[in-house]
Amino acid sequence: MIQFKHVHKAYKVGGREITALEPCDLQIPEGQIFGLIGHSGAGKSTLLRLINRLEEPTSGSILVKDQDITALDAAALRRFRQGVGMIFQHFNLLSSKTVADNVAMPLKLANELSKSQIRARVHQLLERVGLTDHAQKYPAQLSGGQKQRVGIARALSTNPSILLCDEATSALDPQTTGQVLQLLNEINRELNLTIVLITHEMDVIRRICDQVAVMDAGRIVEQGSVSEVFLHP
Ligand code: ADP
Ligand code: ADP
Repeated sequence: MIQFKHVHKAYKVGGREITALEPCDLQIPEGQIFGLIGHSGAGKSTLLRLINRLEEPTSGSILVKDQDITALDAAALRRFRQGVGMIFQHFNLLSSKTVADNVAMPLKLANELSKSQIRARVHQLLERVGLTDHAQKYPAQLSGGQKQRVGIARALSTNPSILLCDEATSALDPQTTGQVLQLLNEINRELNLTIVLITHEMDVIRRICDQVAVMDAGRIVEQGSVSEVFLHP
């Protein structure tokens, strides 16, 4: 359902071009948890950010559910982005807003639901991630794992079909990492959500990914099921 066709990305820095992604073909099936692993600078974030059009490809096309997302006008792009949630290593919560208001933010921006509908949706999301009792707290009052649960609730608020995770557990201790991975696993199955995640930890790949792509210096150097790529003799 996510298809990269000969996608190439170069950044212009000063007068120079830096290739972040060599021309690459990639298919991520619907409902999978797809991992991207590789060293810093390999091109993982670039690839991820191409999926929600935070970056535009220099050439090539990207299809999501057969729609070419490189050719969307502003209104179509807004609608498309509501279908793609994202969570981050450092959570990116607004510190001056309560947990409930952080989760409500994308719904308010979308401007499609009434206040009472937003309140009900936020309540449902906080219940799903186990934070009902923390709705009126501020991010600074929460643990790292709780903050990432807020991030997940916010990312799911607009009912996306894709969730992008940029090193979402890298700032968490091993036990909390396990809990967040379990939550991602559960919502993947409950919502038939396609999850694309970046990590530098093999363990994260082994624990929840169906498929993995190994990146190095702007190339996908290996790709396949986790058992094919990592567990064969
Ligand atoms: P990773 O996520 O694997 O660390 P990135 O996609 O962030 O890799 O980076 C790939 C390459 O592109 C690196 O050489 C990086 O310095 C470069 N790069 C990433 N973002 C930018 C940018 N906004 N401007 C210029 N160069 C960038
Ligand atoms: P505004 O900030 O626009 O005046 P409100 O004060 O009614 O709106 O609430 C802010 C947002 O936070 C609302 O969208 C509401 O859904 C959400 N919200 C506030 N309190 C709770 C709560 N206890 N449980 C769930 N959602 C809440």
